[in-house]
Amino acid sequence: MKNIYHSDIYKFEKPVNSYWEDTEKDNFNLEKLIKDIKSEVVVIGGGYTGLSCAINLIENYNLDVILLEAGKVGWGASSRNGGFCSFPPTKTSFKNLQKIYGKEETKKFYKNSIEGSNYTKDIISNYNIECDVTGESNFILAHHPNKFKQIKEQAEVYKSEFGIETKIYSKEEFDRIGHGGTEQFGALSYKPGFGINPLKFVNGITRYALSKKLRIFEHTLVDKIDKVDSSYILRTKEGSVNTKKVVVATNGFYQEGLVPQMNSRILPVISNIIVTRKLTKNEIDSHNFKTFSPISNTKNLLYYYRKLKDNRILFGTRGDFIGSNQSNFERSKKMEKFLKNIFPNWSNVSIDYNWRGLIAMSLKLTPSIGKIENEEIYYSFGYHGVGVSSAPWAGKQLSKLVFSSNSKDLDISKIYKGLPKKFIFPRLRIFYFRLAVLFYNIKDKLNI
Ligand SMILES: Cc1cc2nc3c(=O)[nH]c(=O)nc-3n(C[C@H](O)[C@H](O)[C@H](O)COP(=O)(O)OP(=O)(O)OC[C@H]3O[C@@H](n4cnc5c(N)ncnc54)[C@H](O)[C@@H]3O)c2cc1C
Repeated sequence: MKNIYHSDIYKFEKPVNSYWEDTEKDNFNLEKLIKDIKSEVVVIGGGYTGLSCAINLIENYNLDVILLEAGKVGWGASSRNGGFCSFPPTKTSFKNLQKIYGKEETKKFYKNSIEGSNYTKDIISNYNIECDVTGESNFILAHHPNKFKQIKEQAEVYKSEFGIETKIYSKEEFDRIGHGGTEQFGALSYKPGFGINPLKFVNGITRYALSKKLRIFEHTLVDKIDKVDSSYILRTKEGSVNTKKVVVATNGFYQEGLVPQMNSRILPVISNIIVTRKLTKNEIDSHNFKTFSPISNTKNLLYYYRKLKDNRILFGTRGDFIGSNQSNFERSKKMEKFLKNIFPNWSNVSIDYNWRGLIAMSLKLTPSIGKIENEEIYYSFGYHGVGVSSAPWAGKQLSKLVFSSNSKDLDISKIYKGLPKKFIFPRLRIFYFRLAVLFYNIKDKLNI
């Protein structure tokens, strides 16, 4: 199998040094697969998608399921994201979606996105997960006066077309309830939306899965899938599983070669996060930073940030193009500058944590849920950096498909269904992405 980035980013054997890892010491220390076994279904990947799919297969269909995870469970993006439960999971506008799929499918897509957010909230409660839920809505912040009109229009469409609860705040109003700084020109809030500790969330889901007798093997990377008659044999370094159905839930960490039909369709993109030291009350007050709700701004290459419960600021944006530890460090230094440009009174605040991970994008610019034609191989990926609300829900939808083997049974918007197109000259994927970033950087500089 081939990796698209530097090998530093695929070090499955240990977790990244994230802030979250310091808040949660619980490790499951589950066994590695070292023998040849059988199961009705095998799920590859132990993040929100894989775990949710496996739990639903056991609870609703009483199937025998095994989950194989290359690192510790939750090792991928699910344990190290920003913890923003936001929506929708797309990098394109509702206008574009309407043009491509029509008004009804777009409406359904937003409806499903909201269901996703509510599903995340429901499993936090139903599985008794303590994951530090904060905030009651999400904010989209106008980073330039030009953008205020855009968020006002967005609020209007969200309300009238999709029935989403929104509210608009002028610069002065947001200063009172949100924060100040040099790039704050009003905001829009929408519900549902909240922040979580993603590691506590994925660990909570894992605990629940184990209570339902899901067999999970950690440190077990699937490096080959062979088909023998109507069965699949998933081969790992020290063992194998013989199964009738395979679920691929590897999202941005998908490695080319595992499933030929999935190759060249995913663009893994690095997303980086930095977290400051704890800020004093005076420092927080100097920018009037009141809210604990997640915030993202209107830049094309957006910044996302939130105040954590111990008064640190978590700040994220797109990562570098290489994936080495060195490029990660260099990117974190740039991000520190971005943060301090918008909050200049924090120029002396040090950064305690920086890490990164992979999100999955595709030419569809929306998630992909489905079944490989003429095979019993199922997939869900491509949440475009919005997986906290969409991946657990997508895992549940996928479980219905795995059980019935018939995608017609899946009552979700067409926007989610099926594989995205392949990239032309897939080796140039990162180069294409660089060009897109260059273009959006220019747009951001011109504030358009
Ligand atoms: C830095 C960062 C910040 C983010 N912030 C947010 C946010 O604030 N809000 C939001 O909604 N989303 C955010 N996301 C995206 C979100 O985390 C993902 O969409 C979501 O976690 C995807 O879940 P998943 O289970 O599909 O994939 P992952 O959690 O990535 O899990 C895939 C798993 O597959 C395993 N795997 C891969 N190959 C194999 C193999 N061959 N054999 C066995 N196992 C394998 C990997 O080890 C990995 O654990 C962020 C992502 C990153 C990287």
